[in-house]
Amino acid sequence: MSEEKQAVSLLITGADVVCFDDRDTLVRDGAIAVDGDSIVWIGAASDAAEKFAATETIRAPGMIAMPGFIDCHVHTAQQFLHGKLPSIRRKGELRSPMWQRYLIPFESGLEPEDVYCSGVAAYAAMIRSGTTCFLEAGGPFPDEMGRAADEIGIRGRIAMSTMDTVDDLPPQSRMDTQDALRRSEELVLRWKDHPRVNTWLSLRQLMVNTEALRLGMHEMSHALDTPIHTHLAEGTYEVDFAIKQWSMRSAEYLERIGCLDHYVHGAHSVLLSLNELDLYAERDVSACHCALNNYTMGTPRLLEMMRRGIRVGLGTDGAATRASLDMFQVMHGAVLGQQAVAGTPYHVDPPVTHEQMLKQALRGGARAARLEHAVGSLEVGKKADIVLVATDDYDQFPNYDPVITLAESAVGRDVRTVVIDGRVVLKDGELLTLDLGPMRERVGRQYQTLMSRFDRAIG
Ligand SMILES: [Zn+2]
Repeated sequence: MSEEKQAVSLLITGADVVCFDDRDTLVRDGAIAVDGDSIVWIGAASDAAEKFAATETIRAPGMIAMPGFIDCHVHTAQQFLHGKLPSIRRKGELRSPMWQRYLIPFESGLEPEDVYCSGVAAYAAMIRSGTTCFLEAGGPFPDEMGRAADEIGIRGRIAMSTMDTVDDLPPQSRMDTQDALRRSEELVLRWKDHPRVNTWLSLRQLMVNTEALRLGMHEMSHALDTPIHTHLAEGTYEVDFAIKQWSMRSAEYLERIGCLDHYVHGAHSVLLSLNELDLYAERDVSACHCALNNYTMGTPRLLEMMRRGIRVGLGTDGAATRASLDMFQVMHGAVLGQQAVAGTPYHVDPPVTHEQMLKQALRGGARAARLEHAVGSLEVGKKADIVLVATDDYDQFPNYDPVITLAESAVGRDVRTVVIDGRVVLKDGELLTLDLGPMRERVGRQYQTLMSRFDRAIG
């Protein structure tokens, strides 16, 4: 009888529910009941009809319900640089290192409204391809990233880039050490009570930070219970820099000054010695594997990290270098990359399956984000960050096994509906939370100015 039904805010029914929990639960023709921001029940669609009276019901036959992706390393502010670097490469004029020659100069030319628009565009692209949470690497005008994330409804950790050395930096990007610390602390405090969008600390990279800033950030991470997002063991330039400065490698140096611990999130983490891998495990450092970029930098030890239980997620590294924020593609890249470096050389096929890598992206990503209690799997009590993926395209039909379909055939463009924190933010491909028109208009007006400014900056 209807009066016995439990009132819930949202019921998703008829989908194959792939939970990615510890027992790898799969409920065919299943349902998920959501109340407020949390999942309250998962079971058979036939039971749900009798149990729940929902304010909103989404019927999803033929769809797969999965947890949302966590992009563990993204540069929000570099969104509109996509397409530009390949065009410079085409002319044979691309120079290294990219971060110094192009990425920092681009960020230095941005105004607050540009970063807001980058956020709107980037987070819309993430949601559209099934990402429900992001970890920002650290960029300019982080409050504008937060404003975009707040309005569009995504979960995220914004961060402010800090660079306090004097050499080779555009003046707009350079900060005084004490100023960098003060502004970082204020940023963390300003966003600490937001239900979805909070702040992490950020150290850009060893070459552009002073030891005083590293020590200050380390102290602050403990005082504010807030992780530090940094690029670590990323490229040969960084390792060479560390060896020249301190006669040791990047992670070994951070260990020596007492800054390597469970608050550190090391993006890329490609060029790690075995000793550094030990340090990651001992100090519970988390890492992000950016599969579309990492294989140009070295031979990433992703599978070793996974086997050792290191908290490692996957990330896009933003749109500037590979122009995609689709985590399905990153996951495929990670499988192929690890096949090439950790499988084929040893006559192992496959060293990791797509299914295992997808689970790593979700569960490992949640651990790297310090959110394993809240996201990364569909389970009662966790936050309702749910993605509905269509399986009606020619390459997926018929859907023999939903987990394999997700892991091997699905891409971001198959995502139809996305729920974040219990709120439907994308329905049948349409973003419900924000009108993207004003952003497109502003970018349309501003794009040429941005690009001319960038061309001048890079000479
Ligand atoms: Zn990066």
